[in-house]
Amino acid sequence: MRVAFLGLGIMGQAMATNLVKAGHEVTVWNRTPGKLVEGAAVAPTPAAAAQEAEVIWLCVSDTDAVEEVVFGKEGAESSLQSGAIIADSSTISPGATVKFAERVGAKGVAWVDAPMTGSKIGARDGTLVFIVGGAEDQVERLKPLFAAMGKKIFRMGETGKGQATKLAMNLQIALIYEGFAEALTLATKLGVDTQQLMSLIEATMVRSGVVEYKGPFILNRDFTPNFPLRLMHKDIKLTLDAAKEARVKLPALETVEEIYEMATEDGHKDLDYAATLTLLEKWAGVQVKGKAA
Ligand code: NAP
Repeated sequence: MRVAFLGLGIMGQAMATNLVKAGHEVTVWNRTPGKLVEGAAVAPTPAAAAQEAEVIWLCVSDTDAVEEVVFGKEGAESSLQSGAIIADSSTISPGATVKFAERVGAKGVAWVDAPMTGSKIGARDGTLVFIVGGAEDQVERLKPLFAAMGKKIFRMGETGKGQATKLAMNLQIALIYEGFAEALTLATKLGVDTQQLMSLIEATMVRSGVVEYKGPFILNRDFTPNFPLRLMHKDIKLTLDAAKEARVKLPALETVEEIYEMATEDGHKDLDYAATLTLLEKWAGVQVKGKAA
């Protein structure tokens, strides 16, 4: 398929690379020039990239960035062809997604929200899980592209439902991780062997994908960003906004949001979100130790 891929950050660059490897005709664009994908053409603007594209795939930071790339000056909208699909893998507001879809819908263009989970490694290995909202026939058309970048797709309903579900997923990741980080901090302060604690977690119902993925990074004190803290913070704020609008109270997430605020003030926003641990450590006056197996 002819694909315009807009946004070559941690996730986008690897995803576009997998589209090229699967034989698709890819044109890339990134706001900051110089990010490339081997085998893909480079366009100077989103509008130029979208010209002739059957699918415009977005993977940028947030709601404002999506709006800018699609509807801004030199945005993709000006060159959209009727029958094209915009697939958005950025995590953004579900409400804004529905509005964006209506705007391009007037031009005969479909909007499929396709946020994903699987982090940097999933993007590299083509094992992402896509959480999708959109008309069934449009999602079907995107299947070869999903297959090139991921291992599973879950269609959650119409446009906007992918983003809504993604927020519900990241809510859990944020809370599970904070629980894990608090447990490690307390255990360390109480003199418990962290390596043993990890083995115990693995052997019990406390185990989880989040703990399995983040544990080795923590024990190696490697906070290089797989999923930057600033992006998880953005997702937490999106979730709290959506909850407020829907009159749902999320007290645990509200508390975790405050921790992210403080971690940002501490200068950790560009580290992985696992770095919220360092704040707990600072308060407790300990450092979690251990070498990953
Ligand atoms: P990233 O490395 O920070 O990359 C962000 C991308 O967005 C860059 O290409 C950046 O361009 C572009 N961008 C930001 N603001 C823009 C604007 N106003 N106009 C145009 N382009 C703009 O982020 P990422 O980790 O790839 O994440 C991308 C999206 O996927 C986010 O919504 C994130 O929440 C979601 N996500 C990430 C992960 C993960 O593990 N990393 C997992 C699931 C979902 P520049 O290069 O010019 O800055």
